[in-house]
Amino acid sequence: LVRVKTLTKSYGHKVVLKRIDLDVLEGEVVALIGPSGSGKSTLLRCMNRLEGQDSGCVLVAGEPVGYTLRDGELHEVSDKLLSFQRRSIGMVFQGFNLFQHMTVLENIMEGPTLVLKQPRAEVEREARRLLDLVGLRDRADHYPAQLSGGQQQRIAIARALAMKPRVMLFDEPTSALDPELVGDVLEVMRTLAREGMTMIVVTHEIGFAREVCDRVIFMADGEIVEQGPPGEVLLDPKHDRTREFLRRLL
Ligand code: ATP
Ligand code: MG
Repeated sequence: LVRVKTLTKSYGHKVVLKRIDLDVLEGEVVALIGPSGSGKSTLLRCMNRLEGQDSGCVLVAGEPVGYTLRDGELHEVSDKLLSFQRRSIGMVFQGFNLFQHMTVLENIMEGPTLVLKQPRAEVEREARRLLDLVGLRDRADHYPAQLSGGQQQRIAIARALAMKPRVMLFDEPTSALDPELVGDVLEVMRTLAREGMTMIVVTHEIGFAREVCDRVIFMADGEIVEQGPPGEVLLDPKHDRTREFLRRLL
């Protein structure tokens, strides 16, 4: 469903992603782990083109993100078309990034009404269903500032889901949260995984990676060092760097 092909990205002289190849199957849940600065966030940001890559490409359901095929050649798309292409990629960051001046319901409805131009009544019905899914049905008319960090993060997930993405990208969605709020957010992600959502999750939550993810990818210095089922990568890693990283984490 998602294919990353020889993706390379530099900042100045520093190569941050070195010819990354990655295929994610429909319904697969992938954990992306690795030391700080290894390029995890950059990889996710390149996947939905918040960041332009130097070379290589990202395909979602066969469609190159940020490009269109015309006369047998790839051409960069307009911002308008890009935002339409991005509908298939939901993203949730560490910070909550909700619109502070909008209610919870308005936050969730914004994308489908503005970008997808869907009818309001339908969008609202779907938004309320998503609120239910994340366990915050009674918060529709609250403003983000009136919610806890964990609740805001669950709204951020609902807002991303409202666009009916093919894949959800999570960049350390729980690392800014107080410990007692982490569980609720992970629970929502667990539900999504169970429902068959394709997910790529940058996380330090090793328990979550072990229980929920189908595959764990360990990145270091802009490269995929090792990957495999959680039981192998987390419990019996092949590479010294993976072992070293996990030892420090646990
Ligand atoms: P962390 O676990 O700390 O979030 P990460 O694996 O997500 O780390 P990235 O944020 O992808 O790492 O950063 C990879 C490298 O790219 C780092 O060396 C970082 O300093 C550099 N980098 C990231 N964003 C920029 C930027 N906008 N300009 C210049 N360098 C950047
Ligand atoms: Mg990061």
